[in-house]
Amino acid sequence: MGAEIILETRDLTKEFAGFVAVNGVNLQVERGTIHALIGPNGAGKTTCFNLLTKFLNPTRGKIFYKGQDITAMQPADVARLGVVRSFQISAVFPHLTVLENVRVGLQRKRGGSFDFWRSRAVLDQFNARAMSLIEDVGLTGFANIPAVELPYGRKRALEIATTLALDPDMLLLDEPTAGMGHEDIDRIAELIKTVSADRTVLMVEHNLSVVSNLSHKITVLTRGRVLAEGDYETVSNNPQVREAYMGT
Ligand code: ADP
Repeated sequence: MGAEIILETRDLTKEFAGFVAVNGVNLQVERGTIHALIGPNGAGKTTCFNLLTKFLNPTRGKIFYKGQDITAMQPADVARLGVVRSFQISAVFPHLTVLENVRVGLQRKRGGSFDFWRSRAVLDQFNARAMSLIEDVGLTGFANIPAVELPYGRKRALEIATTLALDPDMLLLDEPTAGMGHEDIDRIAELIKTVSADRTVLMVEHNLSVVSNLSHKITVLTRGRVLAEGDYETVSNNPQVREAYMGT
């Protein structure tokens, strides 16, 4: 028996005024894996993410999540199903503390008004859950610091914590290590490994050492099409990939 496919696209295509940014992409993401989407600038990676989260509607093709056709869904409904994207430009509230930011994420998951916070017991529960997520992402010592004062790498960790607060089954990470130094990269890579223990991760990532260390499967896009797919060794030894992506 093969592994379960949690997310699948069939012939996924997006045209912008006649320009085909994503062209007949068939993607199969297995449950519980870290799957990387790589390719040169303009390959269609961001457009793919926007299609998967329904921020864009495809021109053609279908998207299935856990076997359900989600092609016609609204972004909020896709998120409610458990597919949540962590934005490259963070959705963190700069003047709220780390703890408050994560608590807002938890509240979002619950939906509705903030009225339930009138209960001390409920507030305590939310704080405890938020602190546990904050610990998971290594931010315990930063809990009461306004997000704006966090170093960049820590901000990305907070962004992941606010995303985890929505309790996703599937996490879409958009260049999680972009703009980071070595230490932050190592920390975020470790974090991605940890969060993937009971979730599926699909990430767009430029740092090939992160990709090779973390990914079970890699899909290489160029000019909107899938050029190659497989584990790191397979794709990095593919002559077409070397030519198109790595320039060798
Ligand atoms: P990547 O994320 O791999 O760098 P993108 O998905 O951002 O690639 O872009 C793929 C191609 O689609 C690029 O040539 C880009 O200029 C084009 N594109 C993306 N969004 C739009 C848009 N809204 N209108 C027109 N062209 C777009």
